[in-house]
Amino acid sequence: MTRDVTLEQMQHWLLHYADQIEQEQATLTRLDAAIGDADHGVNMQHGAEKMRAKINDLTDCHDIDVFLRTIAMTLISSIGGAAGPLYGVFFLRASKEAGPGDVISLDRLAQMFQVGLESIQQRGHARLGDKTMVDALAPAVEALRLATDAGQSTTEALAVASEAAEAGMLATIDMEAKKGRASYLGPRSIGHQDPGATSAYLLVASAAATLGN
Ligand code: ADP
Ligand code: MG
Repeated sequence: MTRDVTLEQMQHWLLHYADQIEQEQATLTRLDAAIGDADHGVNMQHGAEKMRAKINDLTDCHDIDVFLRTIAMTLISSIGGAAGPLYGVFFLRASKEAGPGDVISLDRLAQMFQVGLESIQQRGHARLGDKTMVDALAPAVEALRLATDAGQSTTEALAVASEAAEAGMLATIDMEAKKGRASYLGPRSIGHQDPGATSAYLLVASAAATLGN
């Protein structure tokens, strides 16, 4: 049972994520129309296209940190709105944690997710329960850590992380938004799934689909 994750798998992860965003673009926009300004699907789709082009260009990249830093810069410069810079800092911080080389351990991957989440929270000041992407990412990070420490395989650990992200995403339906545009609605934001939690779930689900063995 190998518990390593390679650069090639990470490239597949983010290409898969770009495909998922494209498929779910209308859903993300519909969710943002209910409690925001109906641009999350368009914003993410724009980022996905730039990310895909960048990955296909980056054929001579041999280091996971360089790869993820390039992804971070691409997302920061191409995704408008609140979510773009937040996904950007996630990958920027994760790239530092990964370091050079074309393979990392599952333990380091779990650490990358952890520090990436922390940087999103440092930048956006959202806590668990504020109805944001943090509500999908935080349970995933915790599940990934527990499964990794318990000696599970990459496939198993990311599967439970993806399930936790999905549950967290669905839990945003009953939350009142405390951060971002949806917070302007106050209690009227209750009853709607958060768009950023949805795109964040897709990121973890894509990892589960591609980074296992
Ligand atoms: P905007 O709100 O600027 O139109 P988007 O529609 O692209 O940007 O993204 C909205 C999503 O961003 C929200 O659904 C939420 O998950 C996330 N978000 C907004 N503000 C924050 C924050 N401070 N911390 C974490 N996530 C946030
Ligand atoms: Mg929006």
